[in-house]
Amino acid sequence: MRLKDFLQLIGGQSNCLICGKTDLTSIKYGLCYSCFLRFKWDNYYPCDSQFCLRCGIKLLGEKDICLECREDEFPLCNSSLYPYRGVFKDLIQYYKFDKEKRLALFFASQIDSCLRSNGYLNYTLVPIPPEKGKKFRTGWDQVELIISYLKKWGWSTGNYFLKEKGQSQKSLNREERQIASAGRFYLMKNISLPPRIMIIDDVFTTGSTLKECYKILNGKGLYEIRSLTIVRD
Ligand SMILES: [Zn+2]
Ligand SMILES: [Zn+2]
Repeated sequence: MRLKDFLQLIGGQSNCLICGKTDLTSIKYGLCYSCFLRFKWDNYYPCDSQFCLRCGIKLLGEKDICLECREDEFPLCNSSLYPYRGVFKDLIQYYKFDKEKRLALFFASQIDSCLRSNGYLNYTLVPIPPEKGKKFRTGWDQVELIISYLKKWGWSTGNYFLKEKGQSQKSLNREERQIASAGRFYLMKNISLPPRIMIIDDVFTTGSTLKECYKILNGKGLYEIRSLTIVRD
């Protein structure tokens, strides 16, 4: 049963989004306290030598850097909080497609905690933008909402990218995604970029969106470019 159906079954806004428990005193960010503790980022964050240092994928016998990243002209420096499986896949879908906006707070809290713990306080958080017209059509953007909480909590944030309209990437394979991403992103005019940028996105699938943004920022004299996504496929 999908999480959404389960929640419809139990009904109500004050239930924990994961286990459905209705303990009003402990519901935090849409999750009860025990689910909140159980699904904290540091229980899942890839931090040992089994993961690629650049893209965060689980290594299959390679050392430090996966085969694909070895060939990249503009190498990523990416981490992801969770695997895109099980409960996290449900949560992302519930957030993105069913617009369960309470989850923005939960995801923002985990990004905040992860970045603080890893010493990225002096980075400017930069969201991957929605494509032109999407916000007008749907009334919101899932990454922007998360960034708005992080801004309230004191993070410096900046919108520097624009994204042209194009084909949805959902049905595309790896190669097609790379072609579809190329040239769709560009920097706004007349902006001055901060020295340290942490690009924030929701789902890392092939990394083609992020690679496009790293490529654009390359050569702009920045000190550090990194990225963090909520989940990694
Ligand atoms: Zn719960
Ligand atoms: Zn890699």
